[in-house]
Amino acid sequence: MENKKEMRTWLDDLKLDHPLVIAGPCSAETEEQVLKIAHELKDTDVSYFRAGIWKPRTRPGMFEGVGALGLNWLKKVKEETGMKTCTEVANAAHVKLAIENDVDLLWIGARSTVSPFIMQELADALAGTDKTVLVKNPVNPDLALWLGGIERLHKAGIKNLGAIHRGFSTYEKTKYRNIPEWQLAIDFKDRFPDIPLINDPSHITGKRDMVFDVSQTALDLNFDGLMIETHTDPDNAWSDAAQQVTPKTLIQMMLDLRIRKESDPEEAYNSELSNLRAQIDVVDNQIIDLMGKRMKVADGIGALKKERNVAVLQSKRWNEILGKMVLEGEQKGLSEEFILKMFKAIHQESINHQEKIIKG
Ligand code: PEP
Ligand code: MN
Repeated sequence: MENKKEMRTWLDDLKLDHPLVIAGPCSAETEEQVLKIAHELKDTDVSYFRAGIWKPRTRPGMFEGVGALGLNWLKKVKEETGMKTCTEVANAAHVKLAIENDVDLLWIGARSTVSPFIMQELADALAGTDKTVLVKNPVNPDLALWLGGIERLHKAGIKNLGAIHRGFSTYEKTKYRNIPEWQLAIDFKDRFPDIPLINDPSHITGKRDMVFDVSQTALDLNFDGLMIETHTDPDNAWSDAAQQVTPKTLIQMMLDLRIRKESDPEEAYNSELSNLRAQIDVVDNQIIDLMGKRMKVADGIGALKKERNVAVLQSKRWNEILGKMVLEGEQKGLSEEFILKMFKAIHQESINHQEKIIKG
């Protein structure tokens, strides 16, 4: 990987000339497994070796981690490979043990970020630490919970902060294990531009074949780094077997990923870019204009329905519109997912307008 952009804070101190890479197994299983993986990641672009010691498992009876014993293995990783180490902490006891055993970076898992009580307990336990602490997004797509987690740590005097985008759970079957909802990560970055943001393609995809693609998207969106689950025998991993890649695959990925610059000082590029942006601004204004017109028509329909005492929601008509628009969109190169999202939003706004007229 080549040069990226100016880095900040703890990330700045690492003086990397490429995005941060955190790699290692989902779980520490045995001392041999941990050291074998670590030695294969030694002398690569990997800065931090990860391994879960305490594992939050959705259902009981699954492998819940080796516990404090694994902290000795992480110490050995540091001694033998020079890599920094990291693990997940979920309560005050974990924090105490991890700090005592000199783990360099602690992350807070998605199942902890959802709970303000747990977040506060962690913030109190971590108060004043100079360790780096990363907060994974909560399992549900709630930006405020994620920001709140960071704020609690900040208030506790923790200076070296970062965030991990690991996707969001959904009841719908999708190709992802946790849908990325990239906009939410972008909103996070807008709110906290100085907090390094790392992408976790392993938990987003749940499948090793998709890890590269999601990593590339993250780099295209200027994420500061990647956390990628890596195991020498992924198929036989004790947790998250389907999503882990081998060290060999990871090393190849690091060569193949394209790092984009944030901008380019060249004048021709900049004037072409402003030209295209001006065109986008014109089209965006036209879209707003059209939406305004569309809602005026909806107001007219609302008035008519009111007069005749007809219900606002007409499902049959709505499904016809959706089907037609998906086909038309396809011809213009617009994805079905986008058309459905856009028209659902338009339909909702239209219903709100008609409701206002009918109730008014
Ligand atoms: C993990 O990183 O192994 C993990 C449990 O992640 P998450 O909190 O994102 O589920
Ligand atoms: Mn995992």
